Parts: sequence; structure tokens; C-alpha cells
Amino acid sequence: MKFVIALIRHETNTFSPIPTVLSDFRRGTGQGPAYGEAARLACEGTKNAATAYLDMAREMDAEVDFAVYAGAVPSGVVTREAFEHLCDAVMRSASQGCDAVLLDLHGAMVVDGYPDAEGELLRRLRACTPPGLPIGVALDFHANFSHELIRNATVIAGYCTYPHVDIYETGARVARNIRALLEGRSQPVLLWRRLPMLTHMLRQTPALQPMKDLMDRAMQAERDGEVCLASVFGGFPLSDIPCAGLSVVIAAEQGQIEDSQHLLDELCELAWSRRADFVFPSESVPASITHAKTLREGPVLLIDHGDNCGAGGVTDIMDVLEEVLKQGLEDVVAGPFWDPATVAALFERGVGAEVTVDVGGKTDMPALGLKGRPLRLTGMVERLTDGEYTVTGPMFTGVRQSLGRTAVLRVGTVQVFISERPQEPYDTGVFTHAGVDPARCKYVLLKSRQHFRAGFGPFARHIVLVSGPGVCSSDYELFPFQHLSRPMYPLDADASPAHGDGWVPAGA
Ligand SMILES: [Zn+2]
Repeated sequence: MKFVIALIRHETNTFSPIPTVLSDFRRGTGQGPAYGEAARLACEGTKNAATAYLDMAREMDAEVDFAVYAGAVPSGVVTREAFEHLCDAVMRSASQGCDAVLLDLHGAMVVDGYPDAEGELLRRLRACTPPGLPIGVALDFHANFSHELIRNATVIAGYCTYPHVDIYETGARVARNIRALLEGRSQPVLLWRRLPMLTHMLRQTPALQPMKDLMDRAMQAERDGEVCLASVFGGFPLSDIPCAGLSVVIAAEQGQIEDSQHLLDELCELAWSRRADFVFPSESVPASITHAKTLREGPVLLIDHGDNCGAGGVTDIMDVLEEVLKQGLEDVVAGPFWDPATVAALFERGVGAEVTVDVGGKTDMPALGLKGRPLRLTGMVERLTDGEYTVTGPMFTGVRQSLGRTAVLRVGTVQVFISERPQEPYDTGVFTHAGVDPARCKYVLLKSRQHFRAGFGPFARHIVLVSGPGVCSSDYELFPFQHLSRPMYPLDADASPAHGDGWVPAGA
């Protein structure tokens, strides 16, 4: 028995001004994609979906060809060159022959020329392998779906959590079903429906309503054996492609198709009936900070979700920190802000130096008509680090992360972290590696949306969602969508479920 395994994960914010190149696929490797044995080593011991594939291969005493391990922080559109390179690695391995291909993908990758990159990858994979080859796919909860992706996959499972703390388990669900197929115990088919609704990411988490009932129902159906796999995907809304939106995907045995269709209907009707609850109303930055100031007990998390690199933000917009300083909040740790030039300047000055620097604001965001605007800060260089740490929290546990060189600038009672690389703070390591414990600060300013809950949620006294500007804004009216299929809720009042898309097997 032989398996080809590949991990290619990128969430593309098509409004981000920063293109994604091959060397950006460095998450977990530190230096671009890894191949073969190096890919396997990068994956072992982590909580990736592909790790569950490796575990299954070991249990089945199967040979593994780990074609490529390539994860990148969310950013702008992936270059054609990077995509071709990653695809070629998978095709090279798969075309040499195997019993199954096991993929650990995101589902919202957009490539220059391929708005539906995972669909294109799957299409090519089908074309270079024997008909009927089992292809198992684990996808992020934020996947956007096309016919190409559904038609060419054998089984699909999505994360049931956001923050994503069940990535390994999602791989295990895929592996279990591929194994049943290989052992002749199962012959699954896929059913899919996409609704014309862009849900707000701040309203997506399956831990809370309106999503909770949907995900609970899907998970229960899977647990009870009503279907092989049932996944609800919130979809990634910051993507100007035709197929963005909320989807439900079910893998079922032939004999379960009719019931599966009922389940698909039930879940989609429930999602649509709650569409208004999936909208997050934004308030002004000053109003949010004023509210934060009234909170007596910390830690208070200030979540600047409009500029979250975890969803493609540039991470150098300073408006929220500016307001925090203006309103005089005390005992604050903030960051990390992305600004390699300022980091270089602070390293040159050294620890203890009194400096005045223009932080952040180096990037324009032409898609939204926003201009970069640095924030002038005067303070003391308190600490300089290499930015290296290992994740100890529940998301990407054990993965080695690097912020690049990182400087801590003290401005009064505010500690500002400035790093060479953007990184969404889902683990406290972004601060603790420099000796700062955010759990002991009154205010913690983070550029994140949901994933901060993994590492920072457990000790937060209050969470204030701050609608700072940026390409991750929750106000979809600000985005110049051109390719998105319309009508689409909440942009268009006349959107109805009939404007969605879907797929059920012939004979259903
Ligand atoms: Zn996601």
C-alpha cells in the first residue's frame, strides 16, 4: 500500500495588496516549502491534518510519499509561478502510482488566473491518475466551494471549530473514510450545496449561535452514522471570486443519499433562516476604546479585526493603537505590528535607547482606497529578540513560529511589539518569548478575529471587538466586489437560496 500526501494551505484575501510567492510558504519549515523526507519531518508531531494521514499510514504499514509541505500565512493572491511549482510536486508523486492521495488543503486559495485554486489542483490530479483513485481532502472551515473541487474529490471533511483546534481530527475523519473505502467497507459519494450568503467571520464560530446549531447537527449526523461525513463551511468572504459563500458538504454511502439530501436541505434551511444573525454590526474605533476604558478589571482584549494577517491583513495599520494612546489607556501590551524597517532601526539603536520612530503605515491598500499612515512614537527600546517561539496553546500546538527579529518599544505604560514578519497572535508566545506575560496586563491589543481565543481567551476578562480599518473589515459594503456571484446576502436584498449552487450525485 502506498499513499501520496500533500499539505498546501493558503487563505487568500484578494483585496490584500501583498502577493504571495513561493518562499512565503514557510509556515512550520522556516524557509519555504519542504519536500519528501523533509516534508514528513516538518509534519511529524504537529496537529496538522496530514499528521493524521501519516498516523494512518503507519497503522496500515503503508509506504508514504510526502510530496510537499507548504503552508503560508494568509495574504494576497498567490503567484502563478508558486502555484505551478506546488502543483507539479503533487503531480510528480501522484503520477508515479499510489493507492490513495491524501490532501491537507485550505479551500480558499486564489491564484493569479485560477480563482478556484484547490479545484484546479484536484482537476489536474484526476487527470494524471487512474480513474477512481481515492482522493481524500481535509479543508479549512473557511473553504469556498466549486463544482471542480466536489467533482474530483472522493471524500471531504472540514474543521468543526473556529478557532481551528481540530485540524488533526479533521485529517483523522478523512483518513478513516479512505481506509474504509480501501478495505472495501465503503463507497462514498459527495453532496454539496452553497448558499448565496457571505457570513461575517465574527459571527461564524461554531462555539456560538447562529452557527452552533448547524455544526452540532452536522456532527451528530456524522457521529450517529446517518452519513459518512458532514461538514458545514462558513466560507471565506474576503475573496472576490464567483464561488465564495457558506457551504454544506456531505459524504454518504449510496444507500444514504436520500436521507443525506434531507440533511443537506435541513442544514441549508437553518442557515438561511438565520442569515441576519450572521451579520456583525460595526461601531467606530473611538466608541469601542471609550467602552474599553470603562471596564474595571483586566485583562481586556482589544481585538483589531479589520487588519488581521490571519485573514490577509497587512498588520501595519496603526489607527487602533493611536486611539488607545489618545484616550490614555494604561498598562497595555500591543502587537505584533509588521514593520521590518523600524525593527532594523531599533536594532541599530540597541536596548535602552530613547527613540522617536514612525511605526507601521508603510502599505497602501488600493482595493479599498486606503493609504498607509505611520504612527510617530517616542519611547525606549526595551527588548530585542529573534522572534522565535514554539506554540504551546491549542492551535498549531508544537509548531515552531518566527516573527523574525522583534523589538519591544515602551511608550509610557504601553509596550509595543514590532516584528519583521506578520503573525496572527493565536498563541501567547508572540509576547512571552520576550518576557511579557499578557495575562498580567490590563489591556492586550491584538490584530486577530477569532483565533486569539485559542491562546488568549482562557485568561481574558473582557473582549472588545474593535472595527479598525483594513482589508479584513467586517463591513462588506466597503469592498469593490467584481467577480462575486450576485445576488448575494447581505449585499443584495433580493438574494434567495435559489441563487446558490450545489451538486448531488446522479440517481439521487
Ligand atoms: Zn480558517
